[in-house]
Amino acid sequence: MMNDYTFIDFDGVVLDSEEKMLERKYNLGFRDHNNKTEFDAYFEYTTLHPEEWDYIIREACSINDSVEIIRNLEMLKKKIAILTKIHTLYEMKVKIEDLRLHRNIQCPVFFVPPGIKKHQIVIPNNQLLIDDSTKNIDGWIANGGRGFVFDSSLSEDTDTKVKSLEFLLKRD
Ligand SMILES: [Mg+2]
Repeated sequence: MMNDYTFIDFDGVVLDSEEKMLERKYNLGFRDHNNKTEFDAYFEYTTLHPEEWDYIIREACSINDSVEIIRNLEMLKKKIAILTKIHTLYEMKVKIEDLRLHRNIQCPVFFVPPGIKKHQIVIPNNQLLIDDSTKNIDGWIANGGRGFVFDSSLSEDTDTKVKSLEFLLKRD
């Protein structure tokens, strides 16, 4: 459909901020990344120490040229938007400033607060989502969307997974 957007996840697709966050969490002594309570404790810590997000977002690097590909998609006037989970309002501020001022990305950005699913913020309605979380993709597809799992370590794209955003440049 003409008005369809392609939605792109931020952490783990555009930037390697997820790795930066896990590194920060680990160094603070929260070393079990399978323990949900540890994440809750770490995110609570970041509300008291918001500068954690400055480091996590600003020091993060583009994954497989995602930032550069998004800028190209914008130049080609492709309908893309970023759909990203946030844990604190400060993280939301750092993310939007980083995208607009440091990465020169101007597309719409939709933020998903804790406890809410991506498909509740945007009604999928056959639109495409690219996300490194299989859970997010499963939820999106179950609610009427199309999706690809982003996995930067793949050697090539498959029917359900993509290793980069490059394929978006080749579509009409
Ligand atoms: Mg992600």
